[in-house]
Amino acid sequence: NAPLAELDPEVHAAVSAELERQQSTLEMIASENFAPSAVMEAQGSVLTNKYAEGYPGRRYYGGCEHVDVTERLAIDRVKSLFGAGFANVQPHSGAQANTAVFFGLLKPGDTVLGLDLAHGGHLTHGMRINYSGKMLNVVPYHVDQADNLVDMDEVERLAKEHNPKMIIAGWSAYPRQLDFAAFRRIADEVGSYLMVDMAHFAGLVAAGLHPNPVPHAHVTTTTTHKTLGGPRGGVILTNEADLAKKINSAVFPGMQGGPLEHVIAAKAVSFKLAASPEFAERQARTLAGAHLLAERLTKPDAAAAGVSVLTGGTDVHLVLVDLRESELDGQQAEDRLHEIGITVNRNAVPFDPRPPMVTSGLRIGTPALATRGFTEEDFAEVADIIALALQPAPDVAALRSRTQALAAKHPLYPHLIGDAR
Ligand code: PLP
Repeated sequence: NAPLAELDPEVHAAVSAELERQQSTLEMIASENFAPSAVMEAQGSVLTNKYAEGYPGRRYYGGCEHVDVTERLAIDRVKSLFGAGFANVQPHSGAQANTAVFFGLLKPGDTVLGLDLAHGGHLTHGMRINYSGKMLNVVPYHVDQADNLVDMDEVERLAKEHNPKMIIAGWSAYPRQLDFAAFRRIADEVGSYLMVDMAHFAGLVAAGLHPNPVPHAHVTTTTTHKTLGGPRGGVILTNEADLAKKINSAVFPGMQGGPLEHVIAAKAVSFKLAASPEFAERQARTLAGAHLLAERLTKPDAAAAGVSVLTGGTDVHLVLVDLRESELDGQQAEDRLHEIGITVNRNAVPFDPRPPMVTSGLRIGTPALATRGFTEEDFAEVADIIALALQPAPDVAALRSRTQALAAKHPLYPHLIGDAR
């Protein structure tokens, strides 16, 4: 039982370097966050040793009395957090959660509607070479070219034309709220399931700062590591007992073997935290930060540099920067922000003229910095740094020292030195 540093100095060095990277830069990838130490403690616990195929009280292995407790806590807490009747907390990831829903409720070749990947959808919503795109007959819907908002008229038209078995509502890169009631009305009209994938905005829902899809959808899926701020993983929620049964058997034994009980315990911890007033306050700062960023990037100096914000603002934790008029493409803008110590990802804008590896956009999110304790004043400073960095010929050294000052002002995991324990 030698420590990692002694047993495997190469892995230890990489983990230490990653800790240092997270501490010294500003993390603004919209799908990332910082898990609390207690979550990492549960995830790094002896529960990793346990086989527990099955569900609490109905396992195929002995010795499950303690993991039954943690898995029940996770189920009860996530049900109460989102007002759901049933929860499966075993999916190893968001992609596994979505795939399990498809496996449980659909047959190969069934038709589904999903938001086009190039317009903000996720791989699992029907991308051509994803399992979803290979297994299902996917009809993509889009945003309207005029306002970049999901075109509900098109959703309705495609639903009536193709009679899908399922409509998927949800996104990975979209700065506004979806109309879940309208999606459900369309689904009911054509007799299809509505699945909402709230992976990105689940934390906002938990905090009461975003409409809750659970009462509208037949099934709701989420990841637990984005705005929700927990360990990496997935969850499936529903209010319908017959769907819950199908989903449970699709997850196990359909798609997965032994559940990751150490991750499930960490999910339980994160659901407890997500019900707290501190969590709601953090989500409010997340939204305020995104608003400040959108506001700053719509000022005249940004416009003069060809920088704008899709839909003119945001209702959520991210901003989509449109660089189609800028001298920078998405790759160059991502590299420039990296150079000054801000991590973001380039992202295609709808109707993007550039290829997917280059793109004409950036997706910038505020959840991780809000977790780090950034105030509105700090977010205003970050927004100013980003706006200046996207100008032609910025003073890179000056901007880098401003990001370093912000990182120093909000120490991350100050008790961790050298590794993640
Ligand atoms: N669903 C949405 C909307 C996502 O944005 C993502 C990840 O980015 C996923 C599902 C997949 O989650 P995971 O990466 O855990 O498989």
